Amino acid sequence: APLLALRGVTKRYANGTVAVQGVDLGIARGGFVSLLGPSGCGKSTLLRMIAGLVPPTAGGIAWEGGRRPSLGFVFQDPTLMPWRTALDNVALPLRLAHVPKAERQERARAMLALVGLAEAAMRYPRELSGGMRMRVSIARALVTEPEVLLLDEPFAALDEITRFRLNNDLLRLWEARRFTAVFVTHSIFESVYLSERVVVMAAHPGRLHADIALEAPAA
Ligand code: ADP
Ligand code: ADP
Repeated sequence: APLLALRGVTKRYANGTVAVQGVDLGIARGGFVSLLGPSGCGKSTLLRMIAGLVPPTAGGIAWEGGRRPSLGFVFQDPTLMPWRTALDNVALPLRLAHVPKAERQERARAMLALVGLAEAAMRYPRELSGGMRMRVSIARALVTEPEVLLLDEPFAALDEITRFRLNNDLLRLWEARRFTAVFVTHSIFESVYLSERVVVMAAHPGRLHADIALEAPAA
């Protein structure tokens, strides 16, 4: 059984917009799936339904064993807390999970090192570049070791070179941690570069149009 099974998932917003319509999709554990399509085709809505942030108006979302796994989120806007250091931003989910201070500091430091920010642990978000802030955001999402990482156009606002570096870093993290990744993007390059599988939404907004299996990433 797939980790996640969507059956006939539909979302009609209160204003009548049908953002997602009749989506059937199964996602295997440990995979890296991209959800590709132009702006407005319903990618974010679909991801937010998977995340449990938006309820579907029809259809169902079932997790393997009837248990929702732990989730991590990465959005385009990292929304770091400006008055906290990079380290404290990364440690925050552990604090919310009541992990003892020494342990959360250690895990946050290790996670920052993994995203290449060991030297920047004590800096504040305003002292970091956009790419570094995104790395902090990824570290924060992974510090609790979630089974599933949901990413909504995380790199869309970054310059091409930073974006390419972050693609490589993300692949390395996925190789190391083997979380299940669902990556929303409007970049064909990014989807093909990162994923084992590209799910395409486009011509009729809200519907799936193609489900393409690629080779496993080489990273
Ligand atoms: P994408 O992520 O592919 O850009 P979205 O899921 O954000 O697509 O949006 C799909 C459609 O739903 C768009 O027409 C968008 O304007 C609409 N939409 C998104 N969020 C809302 C909302 N909260 N209320 C009404 N319509 C919305
Ligand atoms: P703690 O880590 O003890 O929970 P906070 O992180 O909430 O404390 O706040 C740390 C310090 O930052 C406090 O002195 C607090 O008054 C200050 N602070 C809290 N929120 C903001 C903010 N939005 N902008 C600037 N300073 C803030």
